[in-house]
Amino acid sequence: MEKQPFERPFIKKLHSGMPGKFGMKMDFDPITEIDGINVKDLIGEYGSPVFILSEKTIRKTLNTAKRAFTTRYPKVRFSWSYKTNYLDAVCNIYHQEGSWAEVVSGFEYDKALSNGVDGKYIIFNGPDKSAEYLEKAIQKNSLIHIDHFDEMYMLNELSDKLNKKPKVAIRVNMDTGIYPKWDRFGFNYENGEAWDAINRIMIGKKLDLVGLHTHIGTFLLAANPYKIAAGKLADLAVNIENKYNHNIKYIDMGGGFASRNTLKGAFLPGTDTVPDFDDYAEAITSGLINSQIKPDNLPLLILETGRALIDDAGYLLGTVLANKRLADGRRSTILDIGINLLFTSFWYEHIITPAQPFSHHTEETAIYGPLCMNIDVLRENVDFPLLKKNDHVVIKRIGAYNMTQWLQFITLRPRIVLIDEKGKSHLIRKNETLEVFKSLEKTPEYLNNFKL
Ligand SMILES: *Cc1c(COP(=O)(O)O)cnc(C)c1O
Repeated sequence: MEKQPFERPFIKKLHSGMPGKFGMKMDFDPITEIDGINVKDLIGEYGSPVFILSEKTIRKTLNTAKRAFTTRYPKVRFSWSYKTNYLDAVCNIYHQEGSWAEVVSGFEYDKALSNGVDGKYIIFNGPDKSAEYLEKAIQKNSLIHIDHFDEMYMLNELSDKLNKKPKVAIRVNMDTGIYPKWDRFGFNYENGEAWDAINRIMIGKKLDLVGLHTHIGTFLLAANPYKIAAGKLADLAVNIENKYNHNIKYIDMGGGFASRNTLKGAFLPGTDTVPDFDDYAEAITSGLINSQIKPDNLPLLILETGRALIDDAGYLLGTVLANKRLADGRRSTILDIGINLLFTSFWYEHIITPAQPFSHHTEETAIYGPLCMNIDVLRENVDFPLLKKNDHVVIKRIGAYNMTQWLQFITLRPRIVLIDEKGKSHLIRKNETLEVFKSLEKTPEYLNNFKL
């Protein structure tokens, strides 16, 4: 073993990171490899920073989630939430595992089609569906989840124009005991609006009401709201059956399961506190099977789980640019990873782990990104070991939303790499270059010349 450098012992007062019930929680081991590939080698080959995705973790997590539901309910289908991570390679892993596509824009709709998803397996959500895309979705027999009455009337018109009966569901929002309530999407349950929408569809006879949909929120730290929500959608299905003798084919419970990240201000780490797939599955299926829906009519259960399926599969690798002292004497470490690449640092206490063995002397540290912006803070104040310039770090559990909500700001976006199940790496998105931007811009002729 290599001789470790001597470090002078010292006594220090702890200021940050209050101990929880289980003492100080900190990952004390470096992350030196991901799925068998050395972190240094990954950075050597693909540069720093770089996003890494683990195919093994993606498939394993989906199968854990599937098992939780299929062992409790007869008919289950996952539908991949494109906005959570719409890299083609990622979407196709989910499609290979049998997941449909859940999209919320024309761009995402086209992406699913271009990945080879049959239109009838595309669920079209969201408040922004243009007439053009609704027409496309009708022609391709997609499942259109109506968000508001204006959309319903547009669909009625298109149904006449195309002489086709679009397959629709309505999105329902409701009180499930969680606050703030998400009532801006879909039709409200408690005030009767959802039932009103259903009656208009059934009496209008222009649309084929095949499903009921809800998406009650995101990062829900309790499972019980799902039981309430499933019960309310089941009641609507029963009322439709009773009044119209019409069978609802599926109930779509949306997404919203928490990943194992720790929210800012949380007392205990997310790994110890968030419900697991079994908890959510128990809640949802008990809401459905204990309803008045006749056993022969049990609808297909669709889940649009996003972040809980992919967060753990994503890593962001970076490098220390510098260390410096702040005016108050605190240490700060500057990384080449900014909030432009890590959008979720606004609400998660991301775990930043050194990628090489490190001293166990820690200090209160502010961890900054490279942007010339005061808001570029990855961690305000964290008990962190002393890393040197050019040391590497791994930020884990970042697979959800960062690769879609990232911002092109000040720096160019880096490469994204997938490690396959055999431990081989594949570039799945190239890094941006100046040429990419030049190719989109147009400068009027008279602005092409200047003299300084
Ligand atoms: C974003 C979204 C999802 C995925 O949500 P997660 O919280 O990531 O699980 C599912 N359905 C709809 C309609 C969405 O907008």
